[in-house]
This record gives sequence, C-alpha cells and structure tokens, in this order.
Amino acid sequence: MKQRKVPMRTCVGCRTTRPKRELIRIVRDPQGELHVDGTGKLSGRGAYICPSAECFDAAVKGKRLEKALERPIGPDLLEALRERVQALSQ
Ligand SMILES: [Zn+2]
Repeated sequence: MKQRKVPMRTCVGCRTTRPKRELIRIVRDPQGELHVDGTGKLSGRGAYICPSAECFDAAVKGKRLEKALERPIGPDLLEALRERVQALSQ
C-alpha cells in the first residue's frame, strides 16, 4: 500500500500545522489584491489560516496576516476577509 504525503501548512493565527486542504488560503495576487482562495489554485503570495474567526482575529492582532502577505490591510478589507473566513468555517 502506498502512503500519500499530505502537504502541511501552518496557520498564521494559532500556529498549528495542519493538512493544507483543511486550511483557508488568503492570497495576494500580482496586482496586490487579496483573495480568499477556495480552490488553492490562485497564484501569488499566500497565507494559510484555519477556518475559524478566532484564528483570523489572532492573526490580525499579531500583525501576522499583514506580515505573511507583505501588505497592510485596511479595516474594511479585514472585515470582508473575516466574513469570508467565517462563511467557510460553517
Ligand atoms: Zn488556526
């Protein structure tokens, strides 16, 4: 029996390492726009986060999300991203 290696990523909120597909990817595209990537196929610089508003808030509070994406994130955009993360968590 063959064992498939599961790609692991670290949540920027709680710093837990989990299988990539259990995490939400937030991507900064080449134009600098941010997207919540449901497919995992968008290109650009990405940050991974658990599908949880708590992890999102922790990542924002520690400035880890901005650091991971190398871009400041305004309050309106943060709110929009948070809503997307929360929607995916259900
Ligand atoms: Zn997390």
